[in-house]
Amino acid sequence: MDAAKKRISKLIDQLNELSYEYYVLDNPSVDDSVYDGLIKELKLLESKYPDLVRKDSPTMRVGGTAVSGFAKVTHTSRMLSLNDVFDENEVEAWASRMEKLTESTALEFFVDIKMDGLACSIIYEDGVFASAVTRGDGTTGEDVTSNVRTIASVPLKLRQVKGLESYLSGRTEIRGEIVLYKEEFEKLNKQRQEEGLATYANPRNLAAGTIRQLDPKLVAGRPLVFRAYDLLVDPSSRIETNEQAYLTIKSLGLIVNPPSFKNSYVAKDINSVMKAVKMWADKRDSLDFNTDGLVIKLNDKAIYKKLGIVGKAPRAAIAYKYPAEQSTTKLRDIFISVGRTGAATPVAILSPVVLAGSTVQMATLHNDGEIARKDIRIGDTVVVRKAGDIIPEVVEPMVKLRDGSEKVFKMPKNCPDCNTELIKSKQDEAIWRCPNSKCPARVQNQIMHFASKTAMDIDGMGEKNIKALLDAKLISDAADLYSLKFDDVVTLDRFAEISARKLIDSVADKKHPSLAKFVYGLGIRHVGVQTANDLVAHFHSLDNLRDASEDELLKIEGIGEVVAESVVTWFSDPDNLHHLTKFKKNGVEAVEVKLKNQSLVNQYFVISGTLRNYDREEAADLIRSMGGVFQSSVGKDTTYLVLGEKPGKSKIEKAKKLGIDIINEDVFNKLIS
Ligand code: NAD
Repeated sequence: MDAAKKRISKLIDQLNELSYEYYVLDNPSVDDSVYDGLIKELKLLESKYPDLVRKDSPTMRVGGTAVSGFAKVTHTSRMLSLNDVFDENEVEAWASRMEKLTESTALEFFVDIKMDGLACSIIYEDGVFASAVTRGDGTTGEDVTSNVRTIASVPLKLRQVKGLESYLSGRTEIRGEIVLYKEEFEKLNKQRQEEGLATYANPRNLAAGTIRQLDPKLVAGRPLVFRAYDLLVDPSSRIETNEQAYLTIKSLGLIVNPPSFKNSYVAKDINSVMKAVKMWADKRDSLDFNTDGLVIKLNDKAIYKKLGIVGKAPRAAIAYKYPAEQSTTKLRDIFISVGRTGAATPVAILSPVVLAGSTVQMATLHNDGEIARKDIRIGDTVVVRKAGDIIPEVVEPMVKLRDGSEKVFKMPKNCPDCNTELIKSKQDEAIWRCPNSKCPARVQNQIMHFASKTAMDIDGMGEKNIKALLDAKLISDAADLYSLKFDDVVTLDRFAEISARKLIDSVADKKHPSLAKFVYGLGIRHVGVQTANDLVAHFHSLDNLRDASEDELLKIEGIGEVVAESVVTWFSDPDNLHHLTKFKKNGVEAVEVKLKNQSLVNQYFVISGTLRNYDREEAADLIRSMGGVFQSSVGKDTTYLVLGEKPGKSKIEKAKKLGIDIINEDVFNKLIS
């Protein structure tokens, strides 16, 4: 309880400081998802210990406080926040709560894009623009009338439309979000940079900073846009649904996200809501403005109102947030992982956290120098990041959340697996390495590399099976895989008759692998898939490669001194030569795969996302068999970026910048057919 109290207090202080930077200074120091991660932790603690909820907790209030310099205005009805949900299960749980509360199973939902801007309420008197107020703390906002008056998309007079005359007499209040389009943001920030002024973190902050300018002329010079999402109606109104409210706002002359299958729409059931969630998962990046998710509301306004407010958010609406690439979590411990080349990498053990849609429990810390530079300590709350297929990494510690129990990490002097003293080579000074080529961790990782999909692709050779074979001393290196006997394998706990037979067969299947895959599988430092292909294309046999001098290697395009030295060193190590002899003795003969044709010579391909017809390796092999080059990242020499399903954003952006041809799978199929 005491520990919880301390933690809650630290979280509140830190979150309030972040809120101040975000809402008042318009200058956040962390990504929104980092703030969301901490809020989530605080909410969890507060729900466990309701007695510890403090009045100044950010879970108790909306936004920041109203900023001085503007007159304060009390809202006629509170401007609320929204409760966040982060996955499908939470959406479903909310929908079933709604069904229970309304005792109805025929609820309609209204789904809209959640615009990432600045909430604002605009008041018309007798159809004429009268005032504009920011959300502020939800109860009191700032009077920003003169500034909002300069926004071109805010009509100074509502349009006269048949049937909507009632909105032109008395008070009409329309709420929405002031946003700055992404393109305008880039332009303005670039301009500021050129003028030597501080740049803004994102369009929201620039929009918010602009609205708070005391000089309306300055605001008029910035292309802000008001996009409405709510019309306040009294019970006697004929507007019964959110959909009708949107259509009315539109008829009155303001911008709304059109209620169609486009940006917002009515969903008859939760499956249809999830359809919108899935559709926007990829497409939202193509919108003109930033969005951090979807808003899902009950469509019926009367029910919406009746369900009321819990805390600071309406019960009948939620904000669905798309998986974030960053969040916060606890760094529980650090262990050293020794890879096949001996690199001893510190790895963080984390409290499980969902990043980019998957649960992450470990993250790389790169090396001890990096840990010291960032001052990351065991026990810290840390910001972690994982984007797409990138390995999760620890970005930074949240120093202000420390309670004194955190421990400074010390790199061990010896390898945790074989106790050999770790060394540093000049070539890569930041990394400690275990120099013992017989180190069990190195051997195990090397065998895993050899058997991996990209190398020999031997079925049934997962980490646990390899460990079992090593522990039972049935193998000591990759070459031993080829002398395994069924009778020995079947005696191990992990194997039954069928699995043992399968393993023996899949190894036998790979006795005549492609030479390039075999060379890659040997695990020579700095020899990746492409280099292995280049080496084979030049030397054609393992014997030629073994006998190659550094000078000869350097003649190959794309091979520099580091790779050449590494290849020569590998082939001059007697242990490695013995390993190769063992392969031969066990009947392994790697063969050069001849080119099918030369149709893709000098063409460089990058594939992003999942292709329908081939997995990545098959596609890469096909490209190579026609003389083309398969690359893992977009560069100046790339000829085509092939897009499969769910391609990576950064690859597309880079290709666009470099003017590289972006093609889909159908065009790719034509090229290789
Ligand atoms: P919120 O702003 O995320 O959600 C509520 C708001 O959504 C409403 O006020 C409304 O203006 C807006 N909205 C946008 N589109 C809408 C639509 N179609 N329909 C209805 N409403 C719509 O919630 P909040 O709790 O008020 O603000 C928290 C946000 O601020 C979070 O995203 C958080 O990450 C961010 N924040 C970040 C920091 C930081 O340091 N980076 C600090 C504080 C807050």
